[in-house]
Amino acid sequence: MNDAPLPVTGACRCGQTTFEVSAPAVMTSACHCRGCQRMSASAFSLSAMFPATAFRITKGSPVKGGSQGPDLDHFFCPSCKTWMFTRIVAWNDVINLRPTLFDDPRWCRPFMETMTREKLPWAEPPAEHSFAGYPTAGEFEMLLAAFARSV
Ligand SMILES: [Zn+2]
Ligand SMILES: [Zn+2]
Repeated sequence: MNDAPLPVTGACRCGQTTFEVSAPAVMTSACHCRGCQRMSASAFSLSAMFPATAFRITKGSPVKGGSQGPDLDHFFCPSCKTWMFTRIVAWNDVINLRPTLFDDPRWCRPFMETMTREKLPWAEPPAEHSFAGYPTAGEFEMLLAAFARSV
């Protein structure tokens, strides 16, 4: 599932902000929480998680928006306001990229889904693991290992 050709490249809606990732994804997910529904203007948000050290902006200067800390920051293109990624400092400094921004988004489908207690009744992404809330730290360690084995 995380067999995307590297580097993974992508761009915002207007193309003024672009990025590159030089390592494979460690997790893919869909989040059904009300915050993601509002920010994504859709039924759920999609994420592909990467180590922050493997991620770099190749054009433009993303700005903070959304919920704005303290444990995570949402970043947007300053021109078209596309929600591009979330930086989660609290979790070993990882970047959750919105995979629909990838130049080739087809390889990425959600391995887990979170906050299904807030999901829309018809929203059924093909996730292998579902959580009414969020996984615990212990569960997340097991999910990372399961995702790595699923390649
Ligand atoms: Zn843009
Ligand atoms: Zn969410």
